[in-house]
Amino acid sequence: MGASACASIAQRGVKVLGIEQYTIPHDMGSSGYQSRIFRIAYYEHADYVPLLKEAHTGWLELNQVADQTVFHETGGLYMGPQGGDFVEHSQSSAKAHDLEFERMDAQTIRNRFPVFNIPDSFAGIFEQPAGIVFPERAIEAQARIARKHGAELLEDTRVNSWKEEDGCITVESSGGTFTCDRLVICSGAWTQKLCPDLPLSVSRQVIGWMQTSDPELITWPNLVTWAIELPDQSLLYGFPLMDQLDGPAGFKMARHLPGETSDPDTMDRTPREDEESSFLEYAKQHLPSIIGEITDLKICLYTNTPDKHFIIDHHPEHDHVFIAAGFSGHGFKFQPIVGRILADLAIDGCTGHPIEFLSMDRFKTG
Ligand SMILES: Cc1cc2nc3c(=O)[nH]c(=O)nc-3n(C[C@H](O)[C@H](O)[C@H](O)COP(=O)(O)OP(=O)(O)OC[C@H]3O[C@@H](n4cnc5c(N)ncnc54)[C@H](O)[C@@H]3O)c2cc1C
Repeated sequence: MGASACASIAQRGVKVLGIEQYTIPHDMGSSGYQSRIFRIAYYEHADYVPLLKEAHTGWLELNQVADQTVFHETGGLYMGPQGGDFVEHSQSSAKAHDLEFERMDAQTIRNRFPVFNIPDSFAGIFEQPAGIVFPERAIEAQARIARKHGAELLEDTRVNSWKEEDGCITVESSGGTFTCDRLVICSGAWTQKLCPDLPLSVSRQVIGWMQTSDPELITWPNLVTWAIELPDQSLLYGFPLMDQLDGPAGFKMARHLPGETSDPDTMDRTPREDEESSFLEYAKQHLPSIIGEITDLKICLYTNTPDKHFIIDHHPEHDHVFIAAGFSGHGFKFQPIVGRILADLAIDGCTGHPIEFLSMDRFKTG
């Protein structure tokens, strides 16, 4: 989100300094490891759909200017029990915003995508514009755009603190002290270290890559980007095999469910021996024919809000400080539009994009 904000602010001709504690990109935060799902028929909340339509345009535009493909349309299939939140809310979001989609019964899904073992009580929503975003490439592309338009981006520089006095914001970092008129904080899992009062919690997430004896069945376009709602309402999800992916080889899958609460600075980043059980048990049930050896496990971070919706707003006590955080494991797909919104907020003080539902007011009590 920081790279996208720097690009959007610089493109509007405003002087911007971006500060990153690691390299750009890196795998210590929320955005590492190869791929992220892009979907539009959003079961989480229909109000995200207008933002997703704009994000979709943003990804297609970024594809035009980036050195490498940052977004690949594969189609997306969202499966689960009929009457369950994932299928029914994906459908109601699609209907509310006139999105094209196809509802499939279990037999149709099994015929079209024979890798899936799902009961007759399941259904699925298919949408064609869904696909895969390549996060490292997207971050590199945004950073390049930012620098091309005059932004200065510091790497290996950690912000230790910030304060606002009489309208002047001072940022103290390992690379020196800086002053500015506006501050945009998009520090992912480290946000509470800079804004302690925000209702955020960080969780440790496991991702796996599996080898399989039947790759044909799961290679795009025989398979699309997919997710299945599990009995506890978490999602088992994954990506089709494709050529030219960066990072670990194999069939990538994971479970969308906040893991153990963690601190990003002290967390153990080495996967434990049995950690694949979080998704493997369900993969054996729903994709039994392709189960093979897990050859890679990686650890990534979610930053969760209490309701799992994002925070994009000004700071509760500082009108010139803006925060984009709490992306709760589903934010990357919004990266191009979040940058534009943050540019609007930082430069104009307001945005025409519909983000009221992401304001911090919703956490006020009494
Ligand atoms: C396993 C996994 C799967 C996911 N799958 C999907 C998916 O399929 N689709 C989707 O849309 N989203 C997905 N997400 C979520 C998505 O990746 C995140 O929502 C998104 O990356 C959040 O972006 P961010 O900028 O808030 O955080 P980050 O990408 O972590 O960026 C925050 C940056 O701030 C830097 N920083 C923090 N503190 C400081 C400091 N004090 N000084 C300097 N720099 C600092 C960090 O080093 C980091 O680079 C997934 C996340 C995970 C972990």
